[in-house]
Amino acid sequence: MNPDQALQQLIEGNARFVAGQMTHPDEIMERRLAVREGQKPFAVVLACSDSRTPPLIIFDCQLGDLFIVRIAGNVAGDHAIGSMELAVDEFGVPLIMVLGHRRCGAVYATLQDREHTGNISKIVEHIMPSVEKVRNDPGDIWDNAARAHVVQIVEELRSPQSHFYQYIQQGKLKIVGGFYCIDTWQVEIITP
Ligand SMILES: [Zn+2]
Repeated sequence: MNPDQALQQLIEGNARFVAGQMTHPDEIMERRLAVREGQKPFAVVLACSDSRTPPLIIFDCQLGDLFIVRIAGNVAGDHAIGSMELAVDEFGVPLIMVLGHRRCGAVYATLQDREHTGNISKIVEHIMPSVEKVRNDPGDIWDNAARAHVVQIVEELRSPQSHFYQYIQQGKLKIVGGFYCIDTWQVEIITP
């Protein structure tokens, strides 16, 4: 599968989910047996931990299809990026989607003007530059910041300093940003 075919597969899977016409019952026995021998996922998804945004379901995929990294605010710290590198190096995954979403709790925490305790502060620090970027923009700052954060991560992952840069140059990998709307269940591609 090439990067465009992989993206098309995600878009079509989400359309089935929106329409309530999912084709993949969660754990078909054949598929369970097939993935015992190994995996060949067609996409990496960096998604939020939010209980309402599970990539396997919203893209109507099944076991072995997606290599998923989930972390609050879909922040791309070292471990998250390392996980994505593993998927691309080891399994030749042709697509990475960074997936933000509406009403993200991690983005909301970043918008609050207060100190955050423990390790939540590390997540907030990562999202803060995106909040600053859109602070004076018209519209809903919660939504705008979540979108800006996806764009920020995609730009980082596409940059010449990134491990992925060579793969992109060779046409073997595409990195896109998606935004999931909790109200319509639709994933919009915001950085094609
Ligand atoms: Zn979230």
